[in-house]
Amino acid sequence: MTVAFLGTGLMGLPMAANIADAGMPVRAWNRTADKARPLTEHGAAVAATPAEAADGADLLVTMLSDGPTVEDVVDAGVLRALAPGGVWLQMSTVGLEYTERLAALAADAGVPFVDAPVLGTTAPARTGSLVVLASGPEEALDRGDPVFAAVGGRTLRLGEAGGGTRLKLVVNSWVLAITQGTAESVALAETLGVDPHLFLQAIAGGPTDSPYTHVKAEAMMSRAFPPSFPAKLAAKDARLVLDAAGDGADLGGMRAALDHLDTTVRLGYGDDDMAAMYYACRR
Ligand code: NAP
Repeated sequence: MTVAFLGTGLMGLPMAANIADAGMPVRAWNRTADKARPLTEHGAAVAATPAEAADGADLLVTMLSDGPTVEDVVDAGVLRALAPGGVWLQMSTVGLEYTERLAALAADAGVPFVDAPVLGTTAPARTGSLVVLASGPEEALDRGDPVFAAVGGRTLRLGEAGGGTRLKLVVNSWVLAITQGTAESVALAETLGVDPHLFLQAIAGGPTDSPYTHVKAEAMMSRAFPPSFPAKLAAKDARLVLDAAGDGADLGGMRAALDHLDTTVRLGYGDDDMAAMYYACRR
């Protein structure tokens, strides 16, 4: 099964490498071609255009930054270039509106559409232990299974396309809340003259502790933010969560997180890890 893989950024590169290592022929495309080159060491080919990558492929995977970018990159020509029966596995985080738009684009081209965003960041992407939130027609999910098994440790099947994105937004609201809460607690500790390490020691092993809090707090305390999940993409996701909630739920915490993330981007830390939202909390 040949896989066309579009978008070899922080997440896409290790995911495509794992797919190639699992024995599937991979043709990768990335806007900045140099970032796709390491895949040749895994036996993958680097295509010059999205259509060239898609030509005759059985599966199309998109792992691009957001909905508008996926819509720009995947046009009818790319979809029609797939092999007969080819399936589109849309794995970027694009929110509800764009999931519907992209599903409609696929339907127009007669290509089955799978909405399959992932949980987990760059470390599980490297080790192939992401959680895949797969939704779409059962037959298309079956076709996508070898890819899901290569990139993920677990795949949840979540009904019709849109089910994966809905759950992704719920989980991301939680992840953003933990990061925002950690940034505020570290900033408060420093403001009160409390060593933030004591905050971590105090919660260690208790019911409010989480490994994630330690990772993000350590980054904040050492002011080192190598991107795992870039702040600008976290801001994008906070917006997607708020848009999806609409008038149905009052997500005041998410509005505050978005405010801090927008400030983080304005301060010039958009490409740093979202833990840099610490800078927005610290006065
Ligand atoms: P990233 O490293 O910033 O990669 C973004 C990708 O999109 C790159 O391939 C980039 O190409 C491409 N791109 C951006 N703008 C483009 C444009 N205008 N035209 C064509 N290509 C464009 O981000 P990432 O962390 O891999 O995230 C990819 C997706 O996964 C996002 O939807 C993100 O929300 C989601 N996600 C991320 C994480 C995480 O922890 N990082 C976890 C789960 C899900 P260039 O290389 O040329 O810039």
